[in-house]
Amino acid sequence: MNNTYTKKNLSVPKSVSIDWNIVQTEMKNKLGLDIYESWLKKINFVEEFSNYLLLSVPTRFIRDWITSRYLDQILQTIKNHKKEIIRIEFKIIEQKGEKIQNDDNFQQVENKENISFIKDSYLQYNRIDPNKRFENFIIGSSNKLAFEASLKVSENISHYNPLYIYGGVGLGKTHLLNSIGLELKKIKKIMFISAERFMYQFVKSIKANDMVKFKEYFRSTDILLIDDIQFMNGKEAMQEEFFHTFNALLDKGSQIIVTADRSPNKLSRIQERIKSRFLGGLVIDIQKPDIELRKSIVEKKIEELNNLYPDQINISKDIQNFISLEITASVRELVGAINRIVSFSRIYKKMPNLIETKIVLKDLLNIGENKVTIDLIQTLVCKFFKISKNEMLSSRRSRYLVRPRQTAIYLTKILTSKSLPEIGREFSNRDHTTIIHSVKTIEKLKEKDPVLVESINILKNQILYSNKENEI
Ligand code: ADP
Ligand code: MG
Repeated sequence: MNNTYTKKNLSVPKSVSIDWNIVQTEMKNKLGLDIYESWLKKINFVEEFSNYLLLSVPTRFIRDWITSRYLDQILQTIKNHKKEIIRIEFKIIEQKGEKIQNDDNFQQVENKENISFIKDSYLQYNRIDPNKRFENFIIGSSNKLAFEASLKVSENISHYNPLYIYGGVGLGKTHLLNSIGLELKKIKKIMFISAERFMYQFVKSIKANDMVKFKEYFRSTDILLIDDIQFMNGKEAMQEEFFHTFNALLDKGSQIIVTADRSPNKLSRIQERIKSRFLGGLVIDIQKPDIELRKSIVEKKIEELNNLYPDQINISKDIQNFISLEITASVRELVGAINRIVSFSRIYKKMPNLIETKIVLKDLLNIGENKVTIDLIQTLVCKFFKISKNEMLSSRRSRYLVRPRQTAIYLTKILTSKSLPEIGREFSNRDHTTIIHSVKTIEKLKEKDPVLVESINILKNQILYSNKENEI
């Protein structure tokens, strides 16, 4: 059955399209039936863009759970089919049994989301997220200039024109763009669009023979906010159109704000004259957050969540410090880490301790995947149970070997994202059903054997700490 949402006039020509059913089947094999039935089955395919997929899940909770645990594996599975896909976006679509089949339905579903729409017959959606405001943008030395310039632009039209903000993923560019949009939409006609969507609209207009409308539409705005301009590459005709739109807007005094993941001169496959127009305005970068900013983000986000939900979250200072010290790559990851801790506490009705925190956040931490190797796990488990590695990897089934072997397999399953067959290979080519059996056995035993629970905790700690001891 095909429950995918297909557009007749797909914008960006694609080499291969993802067959979601195949991806689902592979995830079922990779992650096991339990996880599949409980979580992954609930994911629906919505739309494929040139480098990302839009998927849907029925609730925020399921989204958080899936993102915190399985996102990497899902992305990997998708990449096996189409390597251009670099990210996945989830939207929340309550399931009422109906299938999404055409643009109208799609629009209705979208409107259910907690996103305010500027009614827009042409673009269909010109969306601004009411939660990304100046007031909840946390300022530090890495983003201060970008913040101030954005604020100025939102107060004083044409102060810097265009304003070009760039920086790595998850550093707050879209947040700022959105904040500007929220302010200015009170008084001006704004258009907030991603470069991908702009391209989509462009191609659609060509196909519908409706370029005049496209031109008029974009040239009528007072404020043009374009997100992720780096995706607007190649496609000469469209760049041509963009360039003219851009000039027409500047000529009539409209404000343009652009974000990108790199500086203008590093944009590849974008016309020189467009780059030089960007360079003619104000160009500001956002850097990775430093420790002070990370600390205040952690604090303020927890405060925000506590204001939002009736059940208060008490993330200990230790855990807060740990998160701000260890999660350095982006604000998005930092916020993601806090959300995971909160999900954990809701599910288990307690706050995670440090070990649990490390497990919940393992893929965000450097101690994750890269450093926790199967070899490390085997070595430490052998040492703990005082057996040799040869014995562990042998086919002997003596009781004193079986339990350590199962423990090592269990720890590999929970501390790495290796698939069952991969784990099987590392344990002397055991079949993946043996691996599942081992994991299940340990899970069962843990319920009634406190000594085993304790041993596993000690081992987890040794494994996770072994590389990081000096840095924490
Ligand atoms: P980018 O567009 O640079 O990839 P986003 O603007 O989407 O990043 O930010 C990622 C997430 O982090 C969003 O949820 C955003 O609200 C949050 N965020 C980023 N920077 C800040 C900040 N300085 N203060 C508060 N939240 C932030
Ligand atoms: Mg962004």
